[in-house]
Amino acid sequence: MKFEDLSLNKSIQRALIDEGYNTPTPIQQQAIPIILKGTDLIGCAQTGTGKTAAFAIPIINHLHHMVGSSKKAKQIRALIVTPTRELAIQIGESFDAYGKYTNLVQLTIFGGVSQVPQVDKLKKGVDVLIATPGRLLDLHKQGFIDLDQLHFLVLDEADQMLDMGFINDVKKIVKLTPSNRQTLLFSATMPMAIRELADAFLKSPEYVTV
Ligand code: AMP
Repeated sequence: MKFEDLSLNKSIQRALIDEGYNTPTPIQQQAIPIILKGTDLIGCAQTGTGKTAAFAIPIINHLHHMVGSSKKAKQIRALIVTPTRELAIQIGESFDAYGKYTNLVQLTIFGGVSQVPQVDKLKKGVDVLIATPGRLLDLHKQGFIDLDQLHFLVLDEADQMLDMGFINDVKKIVKLTPSNRQTLLFSATMPMAIRELADAFLKSPEYVTV
C-alpha cells in the first residue's frame, strides 16, 4: 500500500513527500481508513510505530476539507491529550509538518511554563489543540478553551496517563467534549482501567494492534 491509495488530499500528500515518507507503516495502513470513515478507534501501538501520523494525517485531511478555506472564526475541532510535555511537543511538530500546506492552526499547551503566550494564541483561534491534562483543565476552567465544536478527541498513550495518575483528569476532559465527537484511543498496553475507559467513552470502536 502507498499513501496515494488512501485518497488523501493533495496538500497532505505533498507534505508527506517532503517528509520522505513513501509507505504507510502497519498502524497507519490499518488506522487511517478507519479514522477517515468516521469510526472510533482503539489503537494498541507503542511509540516508534508511526502512531502519531496514523491519527494526525486523517485528522488534518478531514479538517482541511471542513474548515481549510473557511473565513469564519476558528474553533477547536481536534483535541489531542497526551501525558507529557515532550510528547505534546513532538505531536505538535508532526501536525506542523503534515499540515504545512493547509491553513489549519495548531497549538501545543503544557504546564510548567507561563500560560500567557498560550492564552494569546488561544484567543486568536486554533483548529487543533495538543495538550497535557493539567494545563488543559486549568485553562478550560479559566474560560479560555471552548470544546463545543470539537470533532476529534485523541487520547494518546492512555496507559501512561493512567500510570501518571491522570485518569480522573482524562475522564473530566472527555466530559467537556460533545457526545457526537469521534474518539481515538492509543495505548501501548490495555490494562483493565483503560478497557473500562474505552467502554465508557468510545462508540462501537474498531481495534487495531501492531
Ligand atoms: P511515532 O511512533 O509517531 O513516534 O513515529 C516514529 C517515527 O517514525 C517518527 O520520527 C516519524 O517521523 C516516523 N514516521 C512515521 N510514519 C512514517 C512513514 N510512513 N514512513 C517513514 N517514517 C515515518
